[in-house]
Amino acid sequence: MSILVVGSVALDSIETPFARVEETLGGAASYFTTAASLYSQVNLVAIVGSDFPREHLDFWRKRPVNLTGLQICEGPTFRWGTRYHMDMNARDTLYTHLGVYADFHPIIPDEYRNSDLLFLANIQPELQMEVLEQAHTARLTVLDTMELWIMTTHAQLTEVIKRVDILLMSEEEIRQYTNRASLVSGVHHLLDLGLKYVVVKQGCYGALLFSADGTFFSAPTYPLEEVIDPTGAGDAFAGGFLGYLSTVENGSNGQYSFEDIRRGVVHGNIIGSFVCEDFSIGRLRTLTMDNVANRYRALVECSHFDPNWHFGR
Ligand code: AMP
Repeated sequence: MSILVVGSVALDSIETPFARVEETLGGAASYFTTAASLYSQVNLVAIVGSDFPREHLDFWRKRPVNLTGLQICEGPTFRWGTRYHMDMNARDTLYTHLGVYADFHPIIPDEYRNSDLLFLANIQPELQMEVLEQAHTARLTVLDTMELWIMTTHAQLTEVIKRVDILLMSEEEIRQYTNRASLVSGVHHLLDLGLKYVVVKQGCYGALLFSADGTFFSAPTYPLEEVIDPTGAGDAFAGGFLGYLSTVENGSNGQYSFEDIRRGVVHGNIIGSFVCEDFSIGRLRTLTMDNVANRYRALVECSHFDPNWHFGR
């Protein structure tokens, strides 16, 4: 199965309490594409400016990544700057320069049209909607977003949420979007918009999965001793999640079981943990399925507990 993704491809400048990098490859679609291409073919729809370093494209050309839908236009590439706190679950955005994204309209090439899975990575909701309008055949649609769009384009974002199957949001974003103190109440509000699942990303604490039928799963996190840079963990999470689902045979009609979705969330956590081990997509460049399988086993081990407990024994 192939995965169609639309989202940002960017040059990021990142400051953590311990190091900083300038103009490194970033963008939601970049992390997603690199992560998901470990599993399956990824069809990328995005835009970069004429200043975008060609070496990044050369890297993706060595992976199962189709770049036909990547527009290269006169003007500056999207740029984003951030500074992390000592608690690296928190960061401040220093600037967001949309550059060529300001006038971007995604065009889905004919050869992408029968992509099985669609990921609307973080970008303006109106662009996500333009892609949804063109991608009628996708059997599963998954959406991500971020604070800027929640705050500035709430109504458009709501229209997109109503049209997709699964929403990925951080705990803080759910509170911002729903304006509810209780996370679970916020999730129910989102499910009432017609979603099948809501995945709550909790940074280094793992992820929660809520289904419209009331089922719930708490996915463990892999304890990293050292986090170099958490940027892109959410997008890499999505890459692991959809990447795994793209390998599930009985999902070819878009009907995934709760077990499939659970395993997808675990893959998301695993890939999200790897991306934090280096700046940019550094760790994803060398990551292998053996590495993923080892971490999968470690998570099973650390989260499994005895189901046969009885009071008084
Ligand atoms: P994450 O850490 O998963 O939230 O993703 C961070 C990535 O999203 C960075 O590489 C940024 O280039 C990109 N990004 C930041 N702000 C935006 C935005 N408003 N729209 C789209 N992408 C963004």
